[in-house]
Amino acid sequence: MSRTAVLVPGKMHERVLARLKDGFEVIEADAGSLDAATASRIRGVAVSGTFAAADIDALPNLELISSFGVGYDNVDARHAATRGVVVTNTPDVLNDEVADTAIGLLINTIREFPRAENWLRAGNWKPGQNYPLSRFSLKGRHVGFYGLGRIGQEIAKRLEPFKVKISYHTRTRNDALPYDYYPTLEGLADAVDTMISIVPKTPQTHKTVNAGILKALGPDGVFVNVGRGWTVDEDALVEALSSGALGAAGLDVFYDEPNVPSALMALPNAVLLPHLASGSVPTRNAMADLVVDNLVGWFDARKPLTPVAETPVKG
Ligand code: NDP
Repeated sequence: MSRTAVLVPGKMHERVLARLKDGFEVIEADAGSLDAATASRIRGVAVSGTFAAADIDALPNLELISSFGVGYDNVDARHAATRGVVVTNTPDVLNDEVADTAIGLLINTIREFPRAENWLRAGNWKPGQNYPLSRFSLKGRHVGFYGLGRIGQEIAKRLEPFKVKISYHTRTRNDALPYDYYPTLEGLADAVDTMISIVPKTPQTHKTVNAGILKALGPDGVFVNVGRGWTVDEDALVEALSSGALGAAGLDVFYDEPNVPSALMALPNAVLLPHLASGSVPTRNAMADLVVDNLVGWFDARKPLTPVAETPVKG
């Protein structure tokens, strides 16, 4: 019996490729580059980058797109739904790693550890010379979450022992959570001095962290983004950090990755990471396994493990 053909366009985690090759025919190519006969054989896709409506339409017998990552803004899931194609992502298996990263980034931003290490490595630590005291402390802060889903809640749980006050803004209040709810982002920004953004990239979240929100956090305010750069007006962020309207920012994600504005790079009060929040070997392996297990679940029993909301699969 011939094996089910799975397309892998662009770069993919090696573990996904190795495991897929055990059970599927793997075709590493872009959807648009296939001849008609090959395109019509493709029934599954494993993707880490973009998969647009045109890519979906290039594959007439496509059944499932397994996307690497919990954010699946790179895949046109709405269009997939109109074609009856299921989309899956990799939720939960990365929650702990991303939450750990968020805490590290928050503390690095507030206490300036990366700058202090650079100072030491540059040979500045001499008798009688100490690194200046950090202007800010985590102690006594009021941390506001923009987004408090799977990952946000893990970050919040980790923050509780730091004895900070925690509040949040989402569209829907979650009464099971022990934190103060703000129905608007503006209201949250007015109340807190520290904001962690962990919302998805959607039309509604575009540049919602704007000049007004940053100004409301204030000169002692700290902004951390581990969600998507899309959510932030980056020009306004550079302006707020340069003028002192905002105290400091810690960013794992940027508007136009991997292009980080030089104005942001030049700022001493910004800690910048290259989108690595889930980037450890064990966590990326777990994500890779879920990418494959979704394909196996679908083609074995029509049971993908983690379909996205736009393409639900009835159990
Ligand atoms: P969830 O879907 O579990 O949580 C999303 C949260 O955002 C919910 O609380 C949701 O609440 C809220 N939200 C969504 N839209 C809005 C809106 N318009 N206004 C206010 N709140 C909103 O997702 P995860 O926690 O699993 O992941 C969140 C995002 O983090 C991912 O989509 C991804 O983009 C990003 N991410 C980044 C990583 C990195 O490497 N830096 C790694 C992993 C994820 P409600 O629906 O009630 O509004």
